[in-house]
Amino acid sequence: VNKQSKESIDVDSFLNEYHNQRNLHPTESFKIDFYGGEPLIYFDKIKQIIESTNDVKYFMPTNGLLLTADILSYLQTHNVDVSLSYDGLWQDDNRPQGKRYTNDLYVKRKDFFRSMDNFTIHCMINPGNYNILDNHKYLTDYGTNPDMTIIEDRNVWTSKSVELLNTGITELFDWYISNPTEPLPNFIRCYLMPVIVYKSKRVVVGDCGVGVNHLSFSDNKLVPCNRFKDEPELIPKIEEYKHLSTCDTCEINKYCRKGCIYENIKHGGVIAELCDVYKHVHLCINDMIDKLNTNKHFIGVIEEMVRNEL
Ligand code: SF4
Repeated sequence: VNKQSKESIDVDSFLNEYHNQRNLHPTESFKIDFYGGEPLIYFDKIKQIIESTNDVKYFMPTNGLLLTADILSYLQTHNVDVSLSYDGLWQDDNRPQGKRYTNDLYVKRKDFFRSMDNFTIHCMINPGNYNILDNHKYLTDYGTNPDMTIIEDRNVWTSKSVELLNTGITELFDWYISNPTEPLPNFIRCYLMPVIVYKSKRVVVGDCGVGVNHLSFSDNKLVPCNRFKDEPELIPKIEEYKHLSTCDTCEINKYCRKGCIYENIKHGGVIAELCDVYKHVHLCINDMIDKLNTNKHFIGVIEEMVRNEL
């Protein structure tokens, strides 16, 4: 449902769609993400779904503020991977709750979060969030290697903000190149993975799978992705936007995930400012590979990626 909505999904309708999909795709593995708004507001519904499904891997992005030891114990017993939606140094700028700022609540709960098994932090990069290396280190102190995702909406980035973002990205790469014994930052891993997959297997990782292996259950209906729930007229355009002629001649075509298909449809093509970021990241990847190609720690990271991603 919309973040501001007081509604939540109807569990019976969800289960009906879930069983339909299982019947349609009997040999596929299934993953269920519980997301909101804040999914833990409806923990009773989450339990109902978990207890009515099986052979599923569950994920839950949550702001974590309602997590208690009891809830955590239930989630971990039932194989739910918890991802904390938390922006660290950028939290109060990126995610104010009305006039309330929340970063101090996370700082106070740091020991609790650090005690969690197998959790991740998911952080969004907006214009203004250029100190990427500082935030990587800040979030790492919560006991996990943070995921950092660039906001890929249209009309968000300008050439000036992209320039500042690219400087911040270079700083993160330069730090890792100087410290290859540190875990590879997940931000870098996310862009390196399609390169490794293509170079080792000639497999193109491609888009997010919208409508094919990703479906959303939003406002009690099944849609290719949450973003399309109020604009069903855009759904037929998804296939067309999976293969854009602009990308055919681009030097990073084989490695680039090409942003968000919904945003590209609304924009009428790829978003040039984001292309500048993707190309910059790939220059940084080439530089990193050149400088670390004989480093045993880096070679170990690549070997592990080839083993786990293919
Ligand atoms: S950088 Fe832009 S043009 Fe190049 S492949 Fe990615 S989305 Fe397409």
